[in-house]
Amino acid sequence: MSETAPASPANSVVIAVDGPVAAGKGTLARRLAEWFGYAYLDTGALYRAVGAKVLRQGGDPADPVIAIKAAESLDESDRAAPELRSEAVGLAASKVATIPGVRAALLDFQRRFAHQPPGGKAGAVLDGRDIGTVVCPDAPVKLFVTASDEVRAERRYKELLDKGESITFERVLADLRQRDAQDQARATAPLKPAADAHLLDTSDLAIEAAVAAALEAVVAALKR
Ligand code: C5P
Repeated sequence: MSETAPASPANSVVIAVDGPVAAGKGTLARRLAEWFGYAYLDTGALYRAVGAKVLRQGGDPADPVIAIKAAESLDESDRAAPELRSEAVGLAASKVATIPGVRAALLDFQRRFAHQPPGGKAGAVLDGRDIGTVVCPDAPVKLFVTASDEVRAERRYKELLDKGESITFERVLADLRQRDAQDQARATAPLKPAADAHLLDTSDLAIEAAVAAALEAVVAALKR
């Protein structure tokens, strides 16, 4: 993760998709990338990989020295760790994500991906918490995807049950609120919509309707 960003960004089209836990941004971002033939980066997976690496080493995710070292030495195998989507790793990710040195270590990789998408693709879709505000503030398209706490917790709960995690709905809702609070309150790159982001509330939308609404918003933004 130590590549440096290009001095002047190429002309790739960047679509920034931000939002809180389980708002549906991953699904939407992936579908947008497929539709436009763009590269897709789940930036939360980078923070999860750092959190998982610290936990594997028996360290405290809130310890800046250990977390920054993990972020600076992150490699492909860390990003493919099987436990990445677990609830424990999600909480650890949210803790390492509050450390400015961790965010700095992951920034160049994300910007390079956005401006020089792999596979020579003409554009990139990045989803996360700070893509439209910090990573790619000049992105021509920014979506901020939300949904009510209960709807998001329900989606996340089903996902975890499908994966065989034994957890209660109340626990998932409490974890989600804790993660949101941590993400919104941190000093560096807090979770918030960019001033020019299109807000998309998916609480009452099934997947296909949400994809259609996102596509419509992207096409409108690209015409501007
Ligand atoms: O998106 P996901 O839930 O997998 O992200 C895990 C955690 O990583 C988030 O709770 C957040 O703290 C952090 N994150 C971040 N900035 C991003 C993406 C994720 O701080 N761009």
